[in-house]
Amino acid sequence: MKTKVGLLYGGKSAEHEVSMQTAMAVLKALDQEKFEVYPIYISKDGAWNKGPQLTGPVENVKELAFSNLDALPPTALAPALFKATEDEKGSFDVIFPLLHGPNGEDGTVQGLLELLNLPYVGNGVLSSSAGMDKVIMKNIFAQAGLPQVKYVWFIRSEWEKDNEEAYKKVESELGYPCFVKPANLGSSVGISKCTNRSELEKAFSEAFKFDRKIIIEEGVTAREIEAGVLGNDHPECSVAGEIVPKKEFYDYKAKYEDGNTALIIPAEITESEYEQLKEMAIRAFKSLDCSGLVRADFFLTREGKWYINEVNTMPGFTPFSMFPLLWKHTGVEYPQLIERLVNLAIERHNEKQ
Ligand code: ADP
Ligand code: MG
Ligand code: MG
Repeated sequence: MKTKVGLLYGGKSAEHEVSMQTAMAVLKALDQEKFEVYPIYISKDGAWNKGPQLTGPVENVKELAFSNLDALPPTALAPALFKATEDEKGSFDVIFPLLHGPNGEDGTVQGLLELLNLPYVGNGVLSSSAGMDKVIMKNIFAQAGLPQVKYVWFIRSEWEKDNEEAYKKVESELGYPCFVKPANLGSSVGISKCTNRSELEKAFSEAFKFDRKIIIEEGVTAREIEAGVLGNDHPECSVAGEIVPKKEFYDYKAKYEDGNTALIIPAEITESEYEQLKEMAIRAFKSLDCSGLVRADFFLTREGKWYINEVNTMPGFTPFSMFPLLWKHTGVEYPQLIERLVNLAIERHNEKQ
């Protein structure tokens, strides 16, 4: 019997387009001999569109989403998900939420799927939501003893009450350069590097456009080294990869548009540096009680000091994204990686019962 997979993509976050690209790639790679695949597209305004079972290769995910799907208001989601495969009797075997950012990678969709008692790929409610909020994530990493740069955070109302005090706190505790980020986002959206007060002021306003909470971090000059972690209770770590952005930092354009950011896999680090990385990546995975996958991102300074930057609970997932490439170099090809994730999802679901 084929495994029925509901592929959830699109979504309400600023990373909608990224999700579209990923969905296309996963749809192409899912072996239709083994899987019965149903696309479920979430539009930017949050309407869910469920599609018919795919019967052949997909060329354009956008056409698919807009032509032959039924739009549903979010209130009709639960019955719709149950009914989606009614013709075949029964519900999905597994949902693959290929969603990035808020309302997708942050535990909300995961919570819905828990309520529906449907197995789903990737992290659960707790790890997804803790991983989405950079402040909470860093607090947990601190507790796990992972090395990090210094950081402070503010909610919008604190800043509005006394913005001078907020800027002073940043200057006295971190100094320049610093990075200002919305607490709950990804793909570098809303992030600025600041080297002086006027840039800091602009950066606060910019970041608060995206979130009511922001985090400011000490800026480091370092290489950016990443590792993929895969598994449930006994996670494995991939080889290391390095990102070499041609720009000032790895911003949205560098990630998705320029195509001239170099990914070096395996990263040129020493064996002992790799051992440290692996231990920290798995420690980070466990500290957030992750399951399925994460990409753990680090800074490595010229002096050989590591800092964890973040984990991404649903990392970029096209065949040319870091996470799948890391696993390819570790010996797991893209279609196998997808299959592993689906199996890990079903395993975790069965263990909970
Ligand atoms: P996102 O979740 O959007 O990917 P990150 O925290 O990873 O956000 O920041 C995006 C990029 O900004 C990083 O990949 C790195 O290039 C740069 N960056 C972020 N924080 C720092 C920092 N503290 N020091 C130096 N560079 C940073
Ligand atoms: Mg991120
Ligand atoms: Mg990042």
